Amino acid sequence: MQVNLIAYTKFNKDAFEYATGFRSEAFSDADGLAEAAGRACYQAWERKNPATADTMGYLANIIDHQHFSVLEHSSATFYITDVSRSLLAELTRHRHLSFSVESQRYVDQADREAVIPPALRGLAATSLLVFAHQEAVHNYRMVRDSLEESGVPRKQAREAARAFLLNSQPVSMVVTGNMRAWREVLTKRYHMAADAEIRELARELLIWLRATAPGSFQDFDLDNPIGNEEVRRAAA
Ligand SMILES: Cc1cc2nc3c(=O)[nH]c(=O)nc-3n(C[C@H](O)[C@H](O)[C@H](O)COP(=O)(O)OP(=O)(O)OC[C@H]3O[C@@H](n4cnc5c(N)ncnc54)[C@H](O)[C@@H]3O)c2cc1C
Repeated sequence: MQVNLIAYTKFNKDAFEYATGFRSEAFSDADGLAEAAGRACYQAWERKNPATADTMGYLANIIDHQHFSVLEHSSATFYITDVSRSLLAELTRHRHLSFSVESQRYVDQADREAVIPPALRGLAATSLLVFAHQEAVHNYRMVRDSLEESGVPRKQAREAARAFLLNSQPVSMVVTGNMRAWREVLTKRYHMAADAEIRELARELLIWLRATAPGSFQDFDLDNPIGNEEVRRAAA
């Protein structure tokens, strides 16, 4: 799995000052925009309350009050590669994310390695999966080639042949979400109840998102997926 942050919100402080007459060098990019949007609601430019005087404090209060709409102004875009088709099916259930997914009709699917689910790593079952994956790709190739040889256009040959591929087939995608949408994803997928592969993705996303917008994700614990405490308590 590879997860790279390829774009995120930049806050134009000059334009904001032009529009409002207010400027603060303390405004960062993604978090700064959320704070500025929140402050614009009440035209509250003076930072009188020490608890909310800095961006972390301000956004902690926003999160506490579930005033999440201000987090919708900033967004982050990721390029995600080498995740499974099963993960794709789960991630696309999040309706506020925007996707551009590698096409199996246009992009040939031979010569790709299986994505191994975390629970199988290091076990003999990994070899079984690799074997099953290779066999599936072999069938894919045979069907694709025989259809093409019989005159079926390349795209249609690939779209039919992909029926032989497994959930372990890797896929790449560009995914954009605003910070509220990413919080929704993390709440459900950086969770002990979530599938292990998507939980790994969620952790990678959280690392990037915290680097980009620390205030907007300050209540997530990188070392503890949600529900971890309950699992620990039950095991004790
Ligand atoms: C552990 C786990 C197991 C799962 N198992 C299954 C399963 O067996 N089968 C299955 O089909 N799915 C399953 N899912 C997927 C799950 O049902 C959701 O589709 C997925 O988690 C996206 O969540 P969401 O719909 O709350 O969020 P998003 O689509 O990310 O939306 C975020 C929030 O926006 C609001 N919202 C979005 N759209 C609407 C709307 N149309 N109307 C009202 N409010 C809206 C809701 O508050 C929602 O929580 C599972 C998910 C998890 C985490």
